[in-house]
Amino acid sequence: MTVRIGVIGPGGMGRAHIDRITRELTGGSVVAVTDIDAANAARVAEPLGAKVHGSGGELIASDDVDAVLVTSFGPAHEESVLQAIEAGKPVLCEKPLAPTADACLRIIDAEVAAGRKLVTVGFMRRFDRSYNEMKQVLASGELGEALIVHNRHRNPTAPETYTATMAITDTAIHEIDTMRWLLDEEIVEVRVDKPKRTRNRFEHLQDPVVFIMRTESGVWIDDEVFVNIRYGYDIQCELVLEQGTVTLSDQNRTVRRDAQGSRNAVTRDHNDRFHEAFNAELQQWISAVARGEHTGSSAWDGYAAAVVCDAGVSSLLGDGEQVPVSLIDRPGLYA
Ligand code: NAD
Repeated sequence: MTVRIGVIGPGGMGRAHIDRITRELTGGSVVAVTDIDAANAARVAEPLGAKVHGSGGELIASDDVDAVLVTSFGPAHEESVLQAIEAGKPVLCEKPLAPTADACLRIIDAEVAAGRKLVTVGFMRRFDRSYNEMKQVLASGELGEALIVHNRHRNPTAPETYTATMAITDTAIHEIDTMRWLLDEEIVEVRVDKPKRTRNRFEHLQDPVVFIMRTESGVWIDDEVFVNIRYGYDIQCELVLEQGTVTLSDQNRTVRRDAQGSRNAVTRDHNDRFHEAFNAELQQWISAVARGEHTGSSAWDGYAAAVVCDAGVSSLLGDGEQVPVSLIDRPGLYA
């Protein structure tokens, strides 16, 4: 069976996903697109021979669409995801599931009422080889229990449209989900520290920020979020255990050694650094949809990340105070 996919909002991320579905993955075909920018929708659809729809609702209702990929911007996700649930169609929604915990709860309520998991959230780091090796070392118990995790999330530049709170809701949200998944426990309190600001930023930004989290068992996590570091897109993570540490492989790149020393190139782009993870995420989703199964992170994961983000935003906009995180009881659907 070929899964016929409709894409809502094929901007940078959506086009990258369409490319991988079309050129690299198997079992899926992009048959429909829609975008509030109609010219963009037409441009993307033309080489694919895909149908252009006037709205997300129309695309989702189409009998020609089996599954929906939502890659529009965060505040538009909720409407599309709710429509997909109502239509009983599987939906892979790019992160964030929705910008606030309340919006995510409305999605959870709809999915629980539908009685089956239809929503997957695009937390692709769960598919990264290096993070998976780190998780395996932790699970083996060989080095004891996790105590501390150091993260760095660096981007070369952020556009003027990147708002102050996006450091948490758009950027740190990756580490929030990855830490929940890696450590297999919830985050219970957060705090945002505000270092000296870089001169290479738009005035409205606090950049960098350091996001501090603590989990149920007391694991202490720091996350340096620095979105104007100029030199590249650089994701680092070091897990400190009782008898050793595990560090992400650097950039998944070959090391070059010459008169200037040893080094590997730093990418500038998330699609490059996480190319294999994105492919694995999308391939697994397409294959699961074909089998009528759910895969990947759920609406619960989208909600849990959003609650932590809400607390982080409150600390960021306040005085950097410690903010507790509390989740609703986990519905049975997500047990
Ligand atoms: P973008 O601005 O390049 O693309 C968004 C597209 O959605 C645009 O074409 C826009 O016209 C369209 N759009 C906006 N509102 C819409 C609506 N209501 N209906 C239909 N189309 C609409 O942004 P992007 O960088 O591609 O990001 C898209 C999403 O992907 C965001 O949620 C972002 O957080 C996420 N993202 C995830 C990763 C990752 O690492 N997983 C990386 C980048 C972006």
